[in-house]
Formats: sequence, structure tokens, C-alpha cells
Amino acid sequence: MKPPILAIVIPCLNESLMLPHTHPKLMASLTALMSANRVSAKSFICYVDDGSNDTTWQQIKVLMAQDPRTRGIQLSRNFGHQNALLAGLHAARPMVDCALTMDADLQQDEAAIPLFIDRYLNGKDIVYGIRKDRAADGWLKHHTASAFYALMARMGVNLLANHADYRLMSRRALDALAEYKESNIFLRGLVRELGFEEDRVYFNVRQRAAGDTKYSIRKMVLFALNGITSFSIAPLRAISAIGFLFTCFSCAMLIYVLIDKYLYHDAVPGWSTIVISIYLIGGLQLLAMGVIGEYLGKLYIESKRRPRYIIEESAMDLSEDASSESL
Ligand code: UDP
Ligand code: MG
Repeated sequence: MKPPILAIVIPCLNESLMLPHTHPKLMASLTALMSANRVSAKSFICYVDDGSNDTTWQQIKVLMAQDPRTRGIQLSRNFGHQNALLAGLHAARPMVDCALTMDADLQQDEAAIPLFIDRYLNGKDIVYGIRKDRAADGWLKHHTASAFYALMARMGVNLLANHADYRLMSRRALDALAEYKESNIFLRGLVRELGFEEDRVYFNVRQRAAGDTKYSIRKMVLFALNGITSFSIAPLRAISAIGFLFTCFSCAMLIYVLIDKYLYHDAVPGWSTIVISIYLIGGLQLLAMGVIGEYLGKLYIESKRRPRYIIEESAMDLSEDASSESL
């Protein structure tokens, strides 16, 4: 069995302070894997410069000149972590058997890389890196992250807790991912949708050795909102539910108001009509918005044009090269 060609894809936004630490360590990991014949000598590291305004891209170019196992792409502006990852994966896809994504700050322990390769060699298509604990996070990040995962689970989004974007994907998983044409991408949700055989690797988290987090509070909130709205129409459904409850409530109020008016005769003139109309119209309006929301939800799902299925294995293609497919 030939060792697989691996690409390690690293998104970088203003990582000039981090790259001098990161690159030697990653190169050492890659070299060790190559010498052990676990990955092919054609394997490489692919840096994606996500519109940095420091010397990140210049540094990447120097690294590329020093070692052909370093590649890089530069995006025209800051497209965000998720798009940078996708750009790197798409660029590497035609050349590799598998691709591993990780952050430039090495918060994710690079010592776990051989474990990902083991799982891949055991035939897994997707290997998720799961952090062992959140000790390296501050109080705010820890609690907002837990709340985020809990909320996503409630909204019906299938996420793995404590998995960020430290992940290995096989070529066919990358090919399947390329079928997702939507523009707002939330990779850790999308990859779970692919459904190939998966495995997990548990790793330690470190503090960032240099530079600051590139995820401002604003970026984090946008990321969470994108995660929810990319995978769930639960917020739209909630409007229908509230509208329905309000309509039921207004019917109960209607009975109460009528009893008050005709049985007890103690209602101020005009009160009943106003109260009934407020509740009823409010309820009906919300219900109507909910109905519109249902259609909007359908439209939204359709507009994504996600693949309706992904084939794991096919016995239809009997040509020779289909059967000679190997790792
Ligand atoms: N990153 C990026 N584009 C962005 C934000 C972040 O490419 O708009 C990269 C960043 O350089 C790093 C990774 O994404 O390699 C994760 O970012 P960071 O470590 O700052 O996030 P944190 O670990 O603080 O959540
Ligand atoms: Mg980080």
C-alpha cells in the first residue's frame, strides 16, 4: 500500500509572530511521518493567508522558497476562518489523498497528527480532533462555547462537542464537501452532514504562544449566528409556535371577556372589544408570520442547493480504474 499524500492546511490571519514557532514544529512532524513512510514524500503544508495586513504572506513566501514542501495561497482580503479553510482544502484537493486542517497558533497539539494518520490508514474518511479539556480557555470563552454547543443541540444541529476545526478528511470526503455550494459555510456542521465513516482523536490544548486571538467577540457572535442560521429553521418555527399559543390564549380571553360582560356586567364599555381585538389580532399576526416563515424556511433550504445524497460506495461503475482505487 502506497503511503498517502497529506496536506496540512493552515489558515493565517496576521500570524507573523506565530509562524516562526509554528512552521518548524509542523515541518518536524511532517518529516517524521515521511521518514516512517506513513505519509508520502509528496505531502506538504499549505498556508492560507486570509488577508493579513502584517508580514504573514511575505514570511510564507520565504518558507516556500526554502522548502518545496511548503505551499501557500493568499486571499484577496479577509474572508474569515471558515472560507480560508475551504479555500485551502479546495486548492489541495486535486493533489492529495487526505488533508488535515489546524490553526496557525498550534493551540491544537501537533503531537496528535500521527494519530489522525493512523485512523485514516485504518480506513476512516473523517477524523475529528476533540479537545480533552478547556483549561487553556478564559472564563468567557469556556462558558460562551458551552452555551453555544448546548444551543446548537437544542436547535437540532448535529455538532460534536469540543471539536473545532482540527480535522482530517479523505479525498472522497473532500470531493463530497466540494458539492456543497452554499456561500455561508459552517464547516464543523457541514462535515458532519457528509456521513462517511468517522473516528475521533483526543488532544491537549495549549495557550497561544504569540500574538492575540483573531476571533473578536463580534466575529464569535457572527460565527455562532451563522452556525445556527445555516443549519436550522428553528427560529422561524418558533414564530409559528408562539403565534399558535397566542391565538389559543386569545380564544380563552374571548370567553373570559364575554363572561365578564354579559354575566357580571362589570366591564367598562368598550373594554371587551378592545381587549379581544388586541389578543386576537396579535395572535393571528404572529401565526401568519409563522406561516410565511415556514415557506421562507423551505425557500432557504432549497436555495442552498445542497447535495441530496452522497454516495459512499458504488457497485455501478465496473470500469477497471474504479476497482483499483486504493489508499
Ligand atoms: N483566522 C483566519 N481568519 C480569520 C480569523 C482567524 O484565517 O478571520 C485563523 C487564525 O490565523 C488561526 C485560526 O484561524 O490560525 C484560529 O484563530 P484564533 O487562534 O485566533 O482563534 P481562537 O483560537 O482564539 O478561537
Ligand atoms: Mg487559537
